[in-house]
Order: sequence, then C-alpha cells, then structure tokens
Amino acid sequence: MRIVCISDTHEQERSVEIPPCDLLIHAGDITFKGDLHKLGAFDDWCETLPLPKDRILVCAGNHDVSLEKTPEVAAHAFLNCTYVRDATVVVDGVRIYMSPWQPRFNDWAFNLDRGSAELAAKWNAIPDDTDILVTHGPPYGFGDLSVRGLQVGCELLLERIEQLRPRFHVCGHVHEGYGRYETDFGTVVVNASVCDARYRPVNAPIVIEW
Ligand SMILES: [Zn+2]
Repeated sequence: MRIVCISDTHEQERSVEIPPCDLLIHAGDITFKGDLHKLGAFDDWCETLPLPKDRILVCAGNHDVSLEKTPEVAAHAFLNCTYVRDATVVVDGVRIYMSPWQPRFNDWAFNLDRGSAELAAKWNAIPDDTDILVTHGPPYGFGDLSVRGLQVGCELLLERIEQLRPRFHVCGHVHEGYGRYETDFGTVVVNASVCDARYRPVNAPIVIEW
C-alpha cells in the first residue's frame, strides 16, 4: 500500500500535488481558525482526488478550533473524507490511530498542559496494536526543532511510542520540522508539514510504503 502523508496545509490544499496512492493521511491544521467554509473547501478538494472517502483520513490540529469547540461541525464539513479523532481505523488490515492533542501552545485547540496527566491519558489510550500513529504534534526529539532552536515535541508522546513502537508515526505542527526521521527503536517519524514556518505551502507530501 502506498500512503501519502500531508499536514499543515492551512487552507492551501489546492497548492499540493498528491502523487498516486492508495491512502492519504492528513495530520491536522487544515485551516487557520477552523472556519466552517474553509473546512468545506478542503472537503471539496478531497472530492477531486481519485480516492474514496474511507481512503482519505483527516486529523484535527491546534488551528482547527471549531473541531474542538463544536465537534458536530465535523459531521457537516467532512463528506468526502473521514475525520478521525482519538480512534482507530483499519485500512487493508493496517491499524491507524489518530489524535489531535498537543502540549499547550498559546491558547489554541486540542491543547493540554505539557507533562500533565490529561495528556498522558490521551497517549495511554493509543492501542498496543497500532501500526501507524497519527498525531498533530511531533514526539520530543523528532521533527520538533523550531526556528528558535527549541525542541518543542511532547516528551510523554516519545515515551509512549518507545513502548508501542508503531512502524510509522505521522505528525506535523512544527512546520520547520518537516522530514523523515529514524528512531533507534524502529519507528520512523514523518513530519509531513506542507507549509514552512512562514505558512508557504512549499514542502512535498511524504510517501511511505506499507
Ligand atoms: Zn500548522
């Protein structure tokens, strides 16, 4: 299975060239502020892709505010893709778990205090048999180096993926962290941010093979 990973398109999905694939994963930050019509525009774009809705998996990010504040928005906005929040979907036998949470970052959506029990509970809910983990934020140390030179990924998430060792961990959030990273415990971390630090959609989708 050929899987294309994107993230952080920030209302510029139409600038992204999606290569032929069997599955598309979006790791969050579809919009700037979660506007319903922007989510709808993203969904319209999904309809133009040669993939059925159950082959386009979408996570929320900290910018997609409406998806946290009024979760029922998702049901109206996403007709041509599958929105997944803290749940597993199985595609061709591959178990994919998706979660939007990240350590608090200003005061955006899906924020929980860094190192908190609430955040740990979100990661503890990831099933042991997860093959591909998708979270909006990166784990600490991989794809998380900000322009200011700080590693802003989640320490608790790193601990959890070391336990679970999914084959792939797809994320975004830290635009500057775009790229593919090998860990020493076997998981490959993919930061698939399409936008750079200035919100220009310059990074190509990252393709992984299953
Ligand atoms: Zn972003």
